[in-house]
Amino acid sequence: MRLKPFNTLGVDARAEHLITLSRPQDLADTEFDPARDLVLGEGSNVLLAGDVPGTVILNRLSGRRILDDDGDSVVVEAAGGERWHDLVRWTLDQGLSGLENLSLIPGLAGAAPMQNIGAYGVELADHLVSLDAWDWRTGSMRTFSVTDCRFGYRDSHFKTGEPDRYLVTAIRLRLSRPFTPRLDYPGLATALAEAGIDKPTARDVSDAVSRVRQSKLPDPAVIGNAGSFFRNPVIEDGLADDLRGRFAGLPVYPAADGQAKLSAGWMIEHCGWKGFRDGDAGISEQHALVLVNHGSATGRQLVDLAWRVRDSVAETFGVTLENEPRVIEFPGHEH
Ligand SMILES: Cc1cc2nc3c(=O)[nH]c(=O)nc-3n(C[C@H](O)[C@H](O)[C@H](O)COP(=O)(O)OP(=O)(O)OC[C@H]3O[C@@H](n4cnc5c(N)ncnc54)[C@H](O)[C@@H]3O)c2cc1C
Repeated sequence: MRLKPFNTLGVDARAEHLITLSRPQDLADTEFDPARDLVLGEGSNVLLAGDVPGTVILNRLSGRRILDDDGDSVVVEAAGGERWHDLVRWTLDQGLSGLENLSLIPGLAGAAPMQNIGAYGVELADHLVSLDAWDWRTGSMRTFSVTDCRFGYRDSHFKTGEPDRYLVTAIRLRLSRPFTPRLDYPGLATALAEAGIDKPTARDVSDAVSRVRQSKLPDPAVIGNAGSFFRNPVIEDGLADDLRGRFAGLPVYPAADGQAKLSAGWMIEHCGWKGFRDGDAGISEQHALVLVNHGSATGRQLVDLAWRVRDSVAETFGVTLENEPRVIEFPGHEH
């Protein structure tokens, strides 16, 4: 089965079988072996370096509802197969705020906890109350509190603690009727000011975030990509000061516990990769952080280019970038 329609990088990998999961009760009859099989949402955060020797399970569990409402504070529940951006817009339609800064992030609700999706100063962990996940190992459902999820910067227990042990079937989010805008992120307040809005509603913020994103990031429907390919590195303050001294203009942002966050995009651009192309594998002309597939790049060609970029940044800055999307490789099936 061809996987090209099921990953936003548009890699033409194959799976032996493809199944759609639309009812949680079917999980008990579904087999999953991480050495052979793969769960996919919208495929917007994966780089398929080769074929999947077993089954790809497409999560299409649907449904969303208000679970709890005490007037100001509301808990909503969404099934794992709901599209994230549709969920954001639906919450805004209900008069609920909280998710507006996370507008237009591709992918499905069930994948959002994997890397604790975040954008424009907000992350999933700020709103997640709990989630339900199917445990492939015990064959039973388990509920995780936000603490159990061990969220970090683009990280969670599901991504690095016990990858592939759980399939997230539903998430619960606490949202608010009174609206407090979060506009600290550079560019967002400017976008609102440019639109002549000085007292934005949550919907205004969602629209502004969408406009800024559309102007900055290439659209996967036009050119294959998986968003930011590298995480912004977090390093010791002292090392960041040293780098700032050596590289004029290097953006450095404060992070927790005496650490600083660097702009991976700036570092990649500084190394000359922006707009680079080798065959159909490339680095976006729009944004140096985005790996793109101009048409028929294989997973291996994209991985090779990503690692060349990583190595050149390490040579220049002494900092090793970590990839944000998961590189999926089944030994013996790379190509
Ligand atoms: C243009 C673009 C912009 C992006 N911008 C952002 C951004 O601003 N912030 C951000 O955080 N991310 C961003 N991303 C990354 C991506 O949108 C998110 O990581 C999203 O949550 C991935 O959802 P998905 O359904 O496509 O997951 P997939 O790519 O299908 O899966 C990602 C990983 O999660 C696993 N997985 C998927 N669903 C489940 C499930 N239900 N249970 C257990 N495991 C599961 C998969 O096995 C895989 O390991 C962007 C991507 C693109 C293409």
